[in-house]
Amino acid sequence: MLHGHSLIAGRHATGDEPRFRVISPLDRLPLPGEFATATGTEVDEALRTAKEAFVHFRETDGETRATFLETIAAEILALGDELLDRARRETGLTRERLESERARTVGHLKMFARIARDNSWLDARIETAQPDRRPFPKPDLRRVMQPIGPVVVFGASNFPLAYSVAGGDTASALATGNPVVVKAHEAHPGTSELIGEAIAAAVRKTGLPAGVFSLLQGDGRTLGPWLAKHPATRAIAFTGSLAAGRALFDAAASRPDPIPVFAEMGSLNPVIVLPGALGSRAKEIATLLANSATSGGGQFCTKPGLILAHDTDALTEFRQSLKRAFAAAAPATLLHAGIATNFDRAGDQLGANPALRTLATSTEPADPNATQARAWLAETTGAAFLAHPELRHEVFGPFALLVTVRSPEEIEAILETIGGQITASVFGEENELVASARLIRRLGESAGRVIVNGVPTGVEVGPATQHGGPWPASTDVRFTSVGTAALERFVRPVAYQNCPQALLPPALRDDNPLGISRLIDGMRK
Ligand code: NAP
Repeated sequence: MLHGHSLIAGRHATGDEPRFRVISPLDRLPLPGEFATATGTEVDEALRTAKEAFVHFRETDGETRATFLETIAAEILALGDELLDRARRETGLTRERLESERARTVGHLKMFARIARDNSWLDARIETAQPDRRPFPKPDLRRVMQPIGPVVVFGASNFPLAYSVAGGDTASALATGNPVVVKAHEAHPGTSELIGEAIAAAVRKTGLPAGVFSLLQGDGRTLGPWLAKHPATRAIAFTGSLAAGRALFDAAASRPDPIPVFAEMGSLNPVIVLPGALGSRAKEIATLLANSATSGGGQFCTKPGLILAHDTDALTEFRQSLKRAFAAAAPATLLHAGIATNFDRAGDQLGANPALRTLATSTEPADPNATQARAWLAETTGAAFLAHPELRHEVFGPFALLVTVRSPEEIEAILETIGGQITASVFGEENELVASARLIRRLGESAGRVIVNGVPTGVEVGPATQHGGPWPASTDVRFTSVGTAALERFVRPVAYQNCPQALLPPALRDDNPLGISRLIDGMRK
């Protein structure tokens, strides 16, 4: 049974109005359970207790935080079918997909537990004093990372487990000693409540202060500004639309004390198919791209939405293969009615645009009672794409636009107009790739991840992962929201000058009680 309340520092909120329900995308019927939107007082309480908890949490050792994260993982697994069933009904995602997402969630909780335990994120650097240095003595200077403070996380709709309440944002913030306040996505509040309770149970079991975690239910337009402006909020992590990410960014920037917003937003994820590859692998590449653009209902931030192919003889076969694959794709249930409405609106607007022609849609009709959208492939020319700015927006869902280009210069101009991207991909034969060094460098300027002869969906999570890119892909191009480096968003460096040993953080003491690798006078030791 779901209680339907926000969870504030381990207790159920009492505010009762206004209440909302979830309409399942699978059948458009209301799901059991009503949820109460958090009040301003409850938002304040969540962040006040987070700030109080921070005083203790930031001092915990890596082992304590690692055990905490591992306990969350165990509590999530213990939810069993109840979690998968509710998530399926709230999001329409398949059981298979949700099982793999749960495995990914548990996997990154354990990954961040390992990092918490090995203390490697502290990045300790020591410059020893040289009192006799001329003309000025050199002081003893020691620098270490420390947590930033309470982090507000906005759960993503398209990853209800892996990028929501206990997702990568939450795990990376907790691993480094930051309390977390999550704003649950309104489309999956029941899934969020179950995971929130799992985290609260882990807080209790590991004896941490209750304010280390809170979960707020309710709508983003009301809660977003309160959370972004609360004096205790020290950073925001967000995944979703450009409009909402921008609103949070602006709210955070207009505070008397601006705070960082790490928003991961839309992306077209351009794919360039070079002439040689088009000539020798047209069908293979078309099938790969169509599957990548339509899998998961095209609701991945890495969906290849823009395919740039040279207008050569081989284009006909490539176009035909793409058409066949899009026509064969089954209609997909979208995550929530808002996304379905956006997809339909894009269909109406772009469908009426004379610069673009539809090449294929799913042959199978969509079931409107199952919030379904048909896969949709459209085509335009490079010149028309450059002349029509309205074609540059991400269409979230099973859509891709084939753009036929005439020259490398046209590709360059298109890359210039679409701005920052999470990914950019290129398909090419070995000889043409060797001659494409300039293009690869150009793609590296536009995107956070450059993929050669592969599709952008299917993100590998690890130390070398980069997920994010120049604006508008994300608000801060220097960071990633996926992979171990994601924790760098929630730590800040502090240097201690001529500080007595007993007063230094353990990572900086001469006897190195944590046993970590450190940079001492320029040497890794
Ligand atoms: P969204 O509308 O951006 O919502 C994401 C979160 O932000 C939700 O918690 C939402 O609250 C909140 N929010 C919405 N408007 C806000 C505002 N003005 N101020 C503060 N918070 C606000 O994203 P979505 O519902 O997941 O999907 C809508 C569109 O976002 C899609 O059609 C797609 O274009 C894009 N999207 C992109 C990605 C990506 O990975 N890049 C992922 C998902 C979606 P509520 O719970 O009240 O809605």
